[in-house]
Amino acid sequence: MNDSSNSGDKTLTVTPSKTLSLKRPVEQGMVRQSFSHGRTKAVVVEKVKRRAHEPAKGPAPAAAPAPAAPAPAAPAQSGAPARPTVKAAAPRPQTGVVLRTLTDEQRDARARALTESRVREDEDRRRQEADARARAERDARDRVERDAAEARKKEEETRLAREAEARRRAEEEARRRLNPSAYPAAEPDHGLTFAPTGGSRSKPQQIIFNTARPAGAPASATPAAAQTPAATESRAPAGAGAPRRPLTAPKLVVPSVKPTRTGAMKDRGRLTVTSATASDGEERTRSVAAFRRRTQRMKGVVEQKERLSREVVLPETITIQELANRMSERAVDVIKLLMKQGQMHKITDVIDADTAELIAVELGHSVKRVAESDVEEGLFDTPDTEEQLAPRPPVVTIMGHVDHGKTSLLDAIREANVVSGEAGGITQHIGAYQVVSPLGGKITFIDTPGHAAFTAMRARGAKVTDIVVLVVAADDGVMPQTIEAISHAKAAGVPIIVAINKIDKPDAKPERVRSELLQYEVQVESMGGDTLEVEVSAKQRTNLDKLLEAITLQSEVLDLKANPGRPAEGTVIEARLDRGRGPVATVLVQRGTLSVGNIVVAGSQWGRVRALIDDKGLNCVHAGPSFPAEVLGFNGAPEAGDRVAVVESEARAREITEYRERQKREQAAVRGGSARSSLADMMSQLKTAGRKEFPLVVKGDVQGSVEAIIAALEKLGTDEVAARVIHAGAGGITESDITLAEASKAAVIGFNVRAHKEAREAAEKLGIEIRYYNIIYNLVDDVKAAMSGLLAPTLRETMLGNAEIREVFAISKIGKVAGCLVTDGTVERGQHVRLIRDNVVVHEGKLSTLKRYKDEVKEVAAGMECGMAFENYQDMRQGDIIECYRVEEIKRSL
Ligand code: GDP
Ligand code: MG
Repeated sequence: MNDSSNSGDKTLTVTPSKTLSLKRPVEQGMVRQSFSHGRTKAVVVEKVKRRAHEPAKGPAPAAAPAPAAPAPAAPAQSGAPARPTVKAAAPRPQTGVVLRTLTDEQRDARARALTESRVREDEDRRRQEADARARAERDARDRVERDAAEARKKEEETRLAREAEARRRAEEEARRRLNPSAYPAAEPDHGLTFAPTGGSRSKPQQIIFNTARPAGAPASATPAAAQTPAATESRAPAGAGAPRRPLTAPKLVVPSVKPTRTGAMKDRGRLTVTSATASDGEERTRSVAAFRRRTQRMKGVVEQKERLSREVVLPETITIQELANRMSERAVDVIKLLMKQGQMHKITDVIDADTAELIAVELGHSVKRVAESDVEEGLFDTPDTEEQLAPRPPVVTIMGHVDHGKTSLLDAIREANVVSGEAGGITQHIGAYQVVSPLGGKITFIDTPGHAAFTAMRARGAKVTDIVVLVVAADDGVMPQTIEAISHAKAAGVPIIVAINKIDKPDAKPERVRSELLQYEVQVESMGGDTLEVEVSAKQRTNLDKLLEAITLQSEVLDLKANPGRPAEGTVIEARLDRGRGPVATVLVQRGTLSVGNIVVAGSQWGRVRALIDDKGLNCVHAGPSFPAEVLGFNGAPEAGDRVAVVESEARAREITEYRERQKREQAAVRGGSARSSLADMMSQLKTAGRKEFPLVVKGDVQGSVEAIIAALEKLGTDEVAARVIHAGAGGITESDITLAEASKAAVIGFNVRAHKEAREAAEKLGIEIRYYNIIYNLVDDVKAAMSGLLAPTLRETMLGNAEIREVFAISKIGKVAGCLVTDGTVERGQHVRLIRDNVVVHEGKLSTLKRYKDEVKEVAAGMECGMAFENYQDMRQGDIIECYRVEEIKRSL
């Protein structure tokens, strides 16, 4: 355009400078264009007025200069068409303004262009009209043909349907004759609407293709025309209820087909372009999703995944993997996000909750922050309503001084004798059992190995015992452990029943026991107090009924109740690893009912209750409140005193036990005094810095005895040396115990257990000592002796003699040798020496060489000369004094 206007200019250059003004009429302007990236740019915009078709307009020299011309023409438009010509002729000489004037050639050219364009327009119109006529004719022809085709097809299809029907009936008939019962009633449904069986299925297809072709062929002049007949034609077969897959435009068929024959639709499967054009239905078809994916890939559009916003539970720390899992996102996406924030992480890295929250929010999830301990929430102590509660048997613990007859009494009550089977007279198996009181009702007895265990259980939050039976031997009176038992019971707020035992003994003085008890604020009934007391003899089985009656009376006062209709809660009384049965835990159910199949959690162990065994060794299905039962099915042996709870799912059980396991590990790490422990730990370490430790791995048959051993060992410790039990547990000694012992240079102690074969071999190989015991006292004594060995021995110096260095020789291979004179006493090879220079000890060490002339000698007496050399020390000088002394070690014991 510009070019052409320029060329127009050129022709005008002869005229005065004003000719330049011809350009003016092009409306020009600056437009400031601003871009999305924030920059702007000034753009020159030219607006050229389009010339309207004005027949009277002056002629243009060619089509080209026309754009330059319209402006002068524009004002003329309002007036008569003649005016421009007048102006063009007249003002030219006067004003010299060329604006309104056109040369003759220009005028001619314009006129010519105008007429030409008019002719062109006329032609166009004519052509269009002709086209329209032709199209109308064609359409009419098509319609006639189509109608004919439809009619033909309809005929064909009704015929087909009839055939199919006949065939189907024949087949049905044949089949019915062959197998009258097996033919289902549903089949006719299919048949009615031409669902021919396998062989015939392809046939209609063929036929349709044939019918479709003649209809389509004549119309196929344009692609558009071809499609219309296909569409209309498709409607026809639908009405007739005919075949599938015949069409090139299958989608159009579907809606019309649907209402009439759903059965057939089902048979056919998905109707797609490929399946429609393919010869048989066996080829694989692309799924809709695949197709969409493909088109998207081609378009380069990344599909926005449907995002599910989740509530993500975030503990204090979480691994990236776990976080990704909880958000249902890919871990790599999480890592990518972290990278964007400049943090490089691996999938297994642990991140804190704040970071995790940032990520979760970024990915469009909501966050629920939880403290780790929240997993235990609601596990215990959910309250019961008053009406749910039912009376429950009392749980009784028997306590008292050693050998006052606790086990005998328990056994007498149970009428079983395990005393003889016990080693060392210490109750090594805590058990529990139920008896029936003479007053009716049941009583549950627990045998604990000691008061410490009782309190340890209480410390873990398990208040198991309702009543304490304090056994005091009538011939022995109140003893230290009796006092202990009283204070433990009082601390727990548990009522005491005093059983004065061994009244069959001739030297029994029950009155003395009563008065002695007064000192410890236990006032028995006969002394005017409210503590029940019974004189019994475990041996003679006297007054056992009275004891049981007293217990029942006391429990009635306590009004013990529990809700049996809830998930069980209880406490582990003892736990051990049984060779055949795996981990076995004796659990006292305290609330609710424990049933086989329940998922239980105890401490850091969980399991599904495989079997419940009562105190008589019988299997039971349920265990109600106050019922002690052995629980089989734990993954590992829990610890005595661990609280047991039934949880709703394995997942919850795992969550809780994993949390507890983690906590245990952390606590163990703190106790182990690793370098990474807290300041407080370091302080306590400093205090015991000089303390030597005697590391031990203790394995026992039951948790109760292990606890007793640990307590006994702890008491051995002094400021200087202490036993440190790095691992303790119930069960045999395993390879892992040995490796643990090796790592911490510990000794392994087995109490009533033996090492597995592999463990034994490993221990031999690694030189780890395993010691077996069945009596706690022996064990403690041995450990005491061993620990004594760790005590720093007292060192005693004995002065041997002095020598003075006269000269120092440097001898190759040996190094420096001092030539000395022994001034007093003797000097012995291998003994300790001090090198004293100007009364200051400059070196302490041992004598490595002692020579007299050329011979190596054992000792040199005073007044003689000798050559001396030190171990690892060369800097002797003339005039130094060598002091020789003997060090004797004196062993100490605890
Ligand atoms: P524990 O340490 O408190 O469990 O006491 P034991 O039950 O092991 O009993 C210690 C000893 O006292 C055993 O030798 C029993 O035979 C004995 N003994 C227990 N009860 C009686 C009793 O009523 N009369 C007599 N004469 N001896 C008893
Ligand atoms: Mg005992």
